[in-house]
Amino acid sequence: EETSLLESLEGKRGLIRAKPPLPAKEGLMGQPTLVHNVLTLCSVPWIVRQGGASYASFGEGASTGTMPFQLSGNVRHGGIVEIPFGLPLRELIERYGGGTLTGRPIGAIQVGGPLGAYLLPEAFDTPLTYEAMQAIGAGIGHGGIVVFDDQVDLVERARAAFEFCAIESCGKCTPCRLGATRGEELLKAIQRDGVSEDRIRLLDDLCDVMERASLCQLGGMTPIPVRSALRPAIAAFESDNEVQGG
Ligand code: SF4
Repeated sequence: EETSLLESLEGKRGLIRAKPPLPAKEGLMGQPTLVHNVLTLCSVPWIVRQGGASYASFGEGASTGTMPFQLSGNVRHGGIVEIPFGLPLRELIERYGGGTLTGRPIGAIQVGGPLGAYLLPEAFDTPLTYEAMQAIGAGIGHGGIVVFDDQVDLVERARAAFEFCAIESCGKCTPCRLGATRGEELLKAIQRDGVSEDRIRLLDDLCDVMERASLCQLGGMTPIPVRSALRPAIAAFESDNEVQGG
């Protein structure tokens, strides 16, 4: 989070600042400051040499240019692959990543980094563009792609998302500081005793609070991997209940 970087640069504890003012207006030492990801800065020399129109000729729709996707997890060839936006997700994994390392079918792919959504096979043909990912409730984020085979334990992935948030939380706001810990406890209860209506409701409430009331994206986006990873377990619980109820 860029304002916590600014606090650190000023020699203070790396807590985020409430916004506004945005750093572009009032940033380092109170001066207008632009804070950019290194991915953005790396594209600047090429754009300056070749021109903006050349860069924009790569990509698809509003997602112009290229993205260095970072392939990792259960994939034969991990590493960085810089390609124009628009390639279907499945093709990125199969053509450049060589499929899963275990040789099993791909079961889930987390797209966008540790706060990205877990996508299931029905979404694997989605093009890697900002618009297409947004349309399915996901995001490209910084281009992190983590591959899992069909043995993936998605409830465990949801628990790990809360754990990541609890470890990384700066502690400034309550929804993230306490929410991540309570969320992990709830997921451990689900792992131990299974999904229940009460647990689904509690999890939904917790995720709503974190999304709406966290001060920065760490707490605000943690519900994305949690909700997406839990979708199959919740769907299975609801369909079992329908069968029993009917
Ligand atoms: S969401 Fe988490 S990391 Fe962000 S300000 Fe709140 S406690 Fe800190």
